[in-house]
Amino acid sequence: MTSTLVTGIGLLSTQSDEGDILDAALVMDDGRVAWVGHADTAPSADESVDVDGRAVIPGFVDSHAHLAFAGDRAAEFSARMAGTAYSAGGIRSTVDATRAASDDTLRANIARLTEELLRSGSTTFEIKSGYGLTTVDEARSLRIAQEFTDHTTFLGAHVVAPEFADDPAGYVALVTGQMLDACAPHARWIDVFCDRGAFDGDQAREVLAAGVRAGLSPRVHANQLQRGPGVQVAVEAGAASADHCTHLDDHDVAALADSATVATLLPGAEFSTRSPYPDARRLLDAGVTVAIATDCNPGSSYTTSMPFCIALAVREMHMTPAEALTAATLGGACALRQDDIGRLTVGSSADLVVLDAPDPIHLAYRPGVDLIDRVWRRGVRVRGTGHRDR
Ligand SMILES: [Zn+2]
Repeated sequence: MTSTLVTGIGLLSTQSDEGDILDAALVMDDGRVAWVGHADTAPSADESVDVDGRAVIPGFVDSHAHLAFAGDRAAEFSARMAGTAYSAGGIRSTVDATRAASDDTLRANIARLTEELLRSGSTTFEIKSGYGLTTVDEARSLRIAQEFTDHTTFLGAHVVAPEFADDPAGYVALVTGQMLDACAPHARWIDVFCDRGAFDGDQAREVLAAGVRAGLSPRVHANQLQRGPGVQVAVEAGAASADHCTHLDDHDVAALADSATVATLLPGAEFSTRSPYPDARRLLDAGVTVAIATDCNPGSSYTTSMPFCIALAVREMHMTPAEALTAATLGGACALRQDDIGRLTVGSSADLVVLDAPDPIHLAYRPGVDLIDRVWRRGVRVRGTGHRDR
């Protein structure tokens, strides 16, 4: 593999102790960052790319995405915008479409969404199952998802499968038994939707404990629809992340602050369900590690765009542009417990995004504008050859 010098960087956001470096350069070698610093002290490399004063940031880390599904729910979105309330039950229409889809249809849908993620600068992303809700359909969702990412998450406990509507305990037994056995070989994480209309605290504890016994690491959908036990369950389980965190009390905030559990905020969901946003300011001021992710799914947040979520985080959740960028890069890396992504420092993965802007503030300042000029993932260019070539 040849080494590449990226030079002419107006502002390099390292998301490390080195902070922002002005008039910077960076060398990639063998998929890793080999050097960062001021352009006038840069070493030579096999090839060189001049980005003409643009800003360079780490690739975004989308730590929460539901990409294994078929169909869409545009009509439901339209109805909701006309006044129909959102509930967790809407998931079931996607379950029907996913079960009916062939492997090739599921694979093509994930490939299409993966392409969107890469084009919008997300170089690492998680994929959850959760729209199969049978042993066969959950396992095949994860088997296909594994072709696209190392961060696959078993979410059999998304909602109670329709066949078990009168027997939720029976469904939990399936999820923690036969379904888990079939899914664990294809998953790294176990997740549960602990909320109104889904699973209660005791059920969620049972699901996570079974997952841990099967070698998976926990993460939790917590406190999206109402104040509930989700955050406490996540912290008790040592979860990498409690996701949504929209309805928190002081105990929840304190528990997050005293733990290694990241609070992952998903403002695309509040946008798409016209709901109140989480209070990011309260979490940050309490010292909680905060991530932002897309929650890409066909029901409540059908976006793959981290720049859109950053704009929402700044405008609607009172994060500064710098805090939002950190949450979308380093925060996501913490939420996936992977320490060589979400930052640009020697040894980290060569995942970088060139913005068509002099400063990452523009991500929120210019909402809805595609500012992604070029993207490298593990040292390989996956978008853009420079503005003159597009
Ligand atoms: Zn979700």
